[in-house]
Amino acid sequence: MIFIMKHNATEEQVSRVVSRIEKWGCQAHLSTGKEQTIIGVVGDVRRIDTEVAARIDGVDSVMRVQKSFKLASREFHPLDTVFDVNGVKIGNDHFVVMAGPCAVENHDQLMETAMIVKNAGAQILRGGAYKPRTSPYSFQGLGEEGLRILAEAREKTGMPIVTEVTEPQLVDMVASYADILQIGARNMQNYALLHAVGESQKPVLLKRGMMSTVDEMLMAADYILSHGNWRVMLCERGIRTFSTYTRNTLDISVVPLLKQLSHLPVIVDPSHATGKWDLVAPVSRASLAVGADGLIIEVHPRPEEAMSDGAQSLTPGNFQELMNSLKPIASAVGKILS
Ligand code: PEP
Ligand code: MN
Repeated sequence: MIFIMKHNATEEQVSRVVSRIEKWGCQAHLSTGKEQTIIGVVGDVRRIDTEVAARIDGVDSVMRVQKSFKLASREFHPLDTVFDVNGVKIGNDHFVVMAGPCAVENHDQLMETAMIVKNAGAQILRGGAYKPRTSPYSFQGLGEEGLRILAEAREKTGMPIVTEVTEPQLVDMVASYADILQIGARNMQNYALLHAVGESQKPVLLKRGMMSTVDEMLMAADYILSHGNWRVMLCERGIRTFSTYTRNTLDISVVPLLKQLSHLPVIVDPSHATGKWDLVAPVSRASLAVGADGLIIEVHPRPEEAMSDGAQSLTPGNFQELMNSLKPIASAVGKILS
């Protein structure tokens, strides 16, 4: 349920509505825009009579949100969410490129990759320190040592870092190094983890589970938002279908669909979506053209030596070419690619 306040509603009227909502045993979440304040109500809203509630001073109207997700919905927050991560703007007319290796393998590999992606125009550095690998025999990541290396790369390049966190118990520690916490596809419905990253108040990149519906993804986002953590990005990274030529199937239509349904920025991961380096650039261009707010791309100085996901990693040259080819598309669709 959402309460739409009148344009001239006072702060006092807003806080009176919030306390009424709390008296009804529900939680209130404020979305304060330039024009209007909207109050999202979460909890057992059956006892709230919309007609009675609409008569509270300062309230313009009260609506039930029929969708299963609430806080992530456009009804609750009609304008695009825009936020800042260490000076990098994400959302609305900004297009963000995050790039780096699948995994932090050692100090020199990460520093080399960080400089390469920065010089090619990436704004955020990616790198996994905790790797949830499908096979227990594959490289599992360097753990905290990997985070220390990422933090050093941030010092050197000025780029914020995004890295995956796999367990609730690790959230505080990973958040002490990272600028953006990534929730991996395998963990999209790990509710204890969603709760913990919600509490952390760090920006979150929430990847779509490989077998998840759009509603499930947006409800997962609501788990994070309901802790008052509004800096959430949704990431399409391909889903599992009967098609076997690619690692996953990129659900390209989900990009404009998510933009309709939600105010949150939408990022595409063409690397995990395709699993093939030579499909990454065309799919990246398509994602920008169709309205994505950014990309997260795997780059390795020598993909043939990569300890994970070498087949889908771009070489430095491939990445530079891709960045150059994005520019005319960004200006055609009115996105700022700085
Ligand atoms: C990754 O980003 O390296 C990763 C493991 O992604 P996903 O969770 O989408 O498989
Ligand atoms: Mn990977």
